[in-house]
Amino acid sequence: MIQTIDLRGRRLSPAELLSIVPRSHTDISVATDAATALIDDVRARGEQAILDQAERFDGVRPDHVRVRASEIADAVAQLEPAVRDALEEAIDRVRAGSAAQVPAPSVTMLGDGAEVVQRWSPVARVGLYVPGGKAVYPSSVVMNVVPAQVAGVRSVALASPPQRAFGGAIHPTILGAAGLLGIDEIYAMGGAGAIGAFAYGVPGLLDPVQVITGPGNVYVAAAKRLVRGQAGIDSEAGPTEILVIADGTADARLVASDLISQAEHDELAAGVLVTDSADLADRVQIELGRLVPLTHHRERVQISLTGVQSAVVLVDDLAAAADFSNAYGPEHLEIQTADPKAMLSSILNAGAIFLGDHSPVSLGDYLAGSNHVLPTGGQARFSSGLGAYTFLRPQQVVSYDRAALQRVREQVVALSGAEDLPAHGDAVTARFTHN
Ligand code: NAD
Repeated sequence: MIQTIDLRGRRLSPAELLSIVPRSHTDISVATDAATALIDDVRARGEQAILDQAERFDGVRPDHVRVRASEIADAVAQLEPAVRDALEEAIDRVRAGSAAQVPAPSVTMLGDGAEVVQRWSPVARVGLYVPGGKAVYPSSVVMNVVPAQVAGVRSVALASPPQRAFGGAIHPTILGAAGLLGIDEIYAMGGAGAIGAFAYGVPGLLDPVQVITGPGNVYVAAAKRLVRGQAGIDSEAGPTEILVIADGTADARLVASDLISQAEHDELAAGVLVTDSADLADRVQIELGRLVPLTHHRERVQISLTGVQSAVVLVDDLAAAADFSNAYGPEHLEIQTADPKAMLSSILNAGAIFLGDHSPVSLGDYLAGSNHVLPTGGQARFSSGLGAYTFLRPQQVVSYDRAALQRVREQVVALSGAEDLPAHGDAVTARFTHN
């Protein structure tokens, strides 16, 4: 069912590999004009524009954009016990994983009395986007909010599209998850308009934020690119991708299950198997043929796995598999080989890496303790997933005493002269003279 790309016997450079990796060419620039107009509309007309956009794209006009405290409390109370329990477990695990991402301050002594401290400072206010078009993602609430809280962000606002099925309210499980995390500033708004509202603020409704994070569709991604500079953004997390490197020892049923599990997100989701075993490739195809018709979202899965973005790639050996994966830069990389850890040193580019038979991507989607907001579309080649560090900035704090400054006084004067900025040198000299 899934296309085969046979690279056996071919030695390809990284650039050649990059040109043949299977990808659906979602062109964000196509959505840029639409996103620009929607952001401008929110800047010009504020809350009315948000309500009009909800009516147009979400098929419902909420009666209020800012969610009331009583609605959040009700949603928490109504969480199904098993879902509440799972969310609490996910929160604990992601909190532990995020805490490990906060760097300790470092102190560098450059001689007696000459100290440079690097401290990590959280941004003041963030806007977190939780998608809610085709599917609802309460897990994305956890994955966005927990790292921001762990980083020490004081003001957290959250947005998710209004749901027609709930009369224009945000999906109750998303509200419940946010309530469990103590978030009380929540807006029923989606798409590019929501990103514009976060970046520029809406008078009488919400103040602008400094960092906007969260996954979303092509309009959300285009809007995040457009507001960059006005606010910081995380990497683009669009249609999901899984790349599995497997050898002949892998369990074809598990490989097929993992490909299906990501394909059920989206027709545009990508599933790629890279293997040095033609026999495993055949067995995975057979398992896909058996399992896809049985799965709940079979139509979506079928479209995803038969799309141009999905493939079985045959390579000569595992070194070639790693080269292919590095060229692709997958959001999720699974390694199902006889010795998965041995491959780690040859892997450069991946949003998150899952080793062995018992670390499926769907564990990472919810409960591994890692973050599921990860770079897609090859962005893992230069960026990383969401984490506490997304909300932190390193700041250097310089503290010299008189003797330490005296030791470098002449060098500062010399360099200020070389740059024709003598007042720089004078400012140092002034510490040691009286006129
Ligand atoms: P979404 O919330 O991103 O988008 C819905 C919003 O899009 C609507 O509220 C509307 O404002 C806007 N919109 C819809 N049609 C539009 C149009 N024609 N013109 C302008 N704006 C329009 O939800 P979604 O659509 O379900 O997309 C979620 C995406 O996020 C999926 O691609 C999913 O795979 C991805 N995702 C990625 C991760 C990750 O970590 N990589 C995690 C969760 C979800």
